[in-house]
Amino acid sequence: MPRRTKIVATLGPATDAPDVLNRLIETGVDVVRLNFSHGKHETHFQRAKQALAAALACGRSLGVLVDLQGPKIRIGKFKTGGTLLQHGARFTLDADMDLNEGTDNSVGLTYKQLTRDVTPGTALLLDDGRIMLRVEDVKGQKIVCYVINGGELSDNKGINRQGGGLSAAALTDKDREDIKAAAQIGADYLAVSFPRSAADIIEARELLRAAGGKGGIVAKIERAEAVDNIEDILRVSEAVMIARGDLGVEIGDAAVPPVQKRIIKLARQMNRVTITATQMMESMIESPIPTRAEVSDVANAVLDGTDAVMLSAETASGAHPIEAVAAMDRVCRVAEQQYEATHGTIRDDAFQRVDEAVGNAVMYVGNHLPVRAIAALTESGSTTLWMSRISSALPIYALTPREDTQRKLTLYRGVYPVRFETRSTDPNMVLKDAVKLLRYRGAVGDDDFVILTIGEPLAKPGGTNTMKIVNVRDVKNEIGF
Ligand code: PGA
Ligand code: MN
Repeated sequence: MPRRTKIVATLGPATDAPDVLNRLIETGVDVVRLNFSHGKHETHFQRAKQALAAALACGRSLGVLVDLQGPKIRIGKFKTGGTLLQHGARFTLDADMDLNEGTDNSVGLTYKQLTRDVTPGTALLLDDGRIMLRVEDVKGQKIVCYVINGGELSDNKGINRQGGGLSAAALTDKDREDIKAAAQIGADYLAVSFPRSAADIIEARELLRAAGGKGGIVAKIERAEAVDNIEDILRVSEAVMIARGDLGVEIGDAAVPPVQKRIIKLARQMNRVTITATQMMESMIESPIPTRAEVSDVANAVLDGTDAVMLSAETASGAHPIEAVAAMDRVCRVAEQQYEATHGTIRDDAFQRVDEAVGNAVMYVGNHLPVRAIAALTESGSTTLWMSRISSALPIYALTPREDTQRKLTLYRGVYPVRFETRSTDPNMVLKDAVKLLRYRGAVGDDDFVILTIGEPLAKPGGTNTMKIVNVRDVKNEIGF
């Protein structure tokens, strides 16, 4: 059985080594992430091209996700590469200072307006929360702080404000340029970093469309404000990423697990896709095996109902990228066989659309009748999204002639894109061809039952209005294969 939960792997220097990409995809990567916080456009173009070629070579669909840097606020560089901050000492963040001139007493800032977002008492967290400063005074362009949690502070580390509330706009000038590159790459998904509201997502989509990009928008939930506005953000996004790195710094690490559960649940109810990200297999950057805690974390994300789990530095720059994917693969496979992951209930509120009704009806039947698989003949894949919101052990094959749809579906839990083209114009004949294809691929056996869905008339996106339950042998006898 194919794995239901999808794996997103970040590409980077470690995946540029010969043969690593091929092996990553063979081991089970469904979506590659290009992290635009690092690297030139040219490098990302090359990586996307190579990854798609590798996927083609092993006959698999692969999604491409471009992740924008967003307004990540950073300190500048130190003359000596870093400094050691002592508890109780004074340290100044100086918006006027040259970005290369940091000393033991002060350092520059990439975001000059930070002075307007802080007041005495504000807690600032640096380097993913490892260092904490409390603002004592703001003097012109200087933010004078004292050190609460000290430690080694080196060049270009990120800054977050505890509790959120930084005013930086979600889309920077760099992001606007990067969106054009994402369109040229043909990204299936564009991840927006640090959005605060639905308006940020709408703007990103408009820019992507203006550049000719067709991808879906992934809202990265990594600000306190995004958690507050989660319903509005979900409504206008195709997917959300629970970006636990920055989120944990902003809302506190202990608040992340309940927020993760709440967002995944809400997203599924609202027919949206979720990616759970950051530090999932963190120790595998150096170690060939994960910790028990990491194994539990991945398994619990699967039980929470996430569509995808993500690897960041583990694959981009770690020492064991293949092992990290293999570890995720084996943990997901066991977790998704558990009762709560295979038994879903149908919502009892009113359906708004015909394809939504058919998708839910199929899952109800599939979870109550011994069938082997679901096969959805689909243009846009929308019916399979409805289906995959309901927990089940049944594979959902999305049969479609459209490559963009195949690539988009690589992120949906339990959905497997299959390229399907037919000359038949009679819907009944098309369904029989679909059964034949699944039988050839070994996805179903002669004595299995399959639930099929189709839209009549054919080839209309979102037009699914029919479900049919057939026995493979009956179809075989009828059309002969
Ligand atoms: P990043 O986002 O890796 O781009 O920072 C993910 C996160 O913050 O968890
Ligand atoms: Mn982040």
